[in-house]
Amino acid sequence: MGLKVFDFCCSAGHVFEGWFASDDDWRSDVESGRFTCPVCGSADIDRRPAAPNFGRVSGTTRADVSADVAKRAKDEMKARQAKAMAALRRVAAEAEDVGDQFARTVRNIHEGRDDPRLVRGTCSREDAEELLEDGIPVMPLPDAALKPLN
Ligand SMILES: [Zn+2]
Repeated sequence: MGLKVFDFCCSAGHVFEGWFASDDDWRSDVESGRFTCPVCGSADIDRRPAAPNFGRVSGTTRADVSADVAKRAKDEMKARQAKAMAALRRVAAEAEDVGDQFARTVRNIHEGRDDPRLVRGTCSREDAEELLEDGIPVMPLPDAALKPLN
């Protein structure tokens, strides 16, 4: 008599396998209390669809499935970072480069002594803090936003 592997899930969501001769066997084992969740001991167990039905993602083992989920999460994160970087690149491309005159120029614009426009440039950390303290919005740009693509 051959044993078949069945996939189970307890009421707490733990997924595990059990080997039984038939579909009836595991039911009687659950009823008699011989078969419980190996993680939490719950007897509230249900069968899940056989492994081939949900092992199709990219491989056949659970390890493959979770690796695939992790990869997709990573890809999504990368896509989001690329989007944010693209937005910063657009800002950097539109802004007038005023170099080391940045702090002075931004202050002049803010105080109405210069034409209002988007500028970028360099300033010291102290300069940036002073600008922010005076309510002048400045933000750091990552170097990558200023480099041409590739
Ligand atoms: Zn459990």
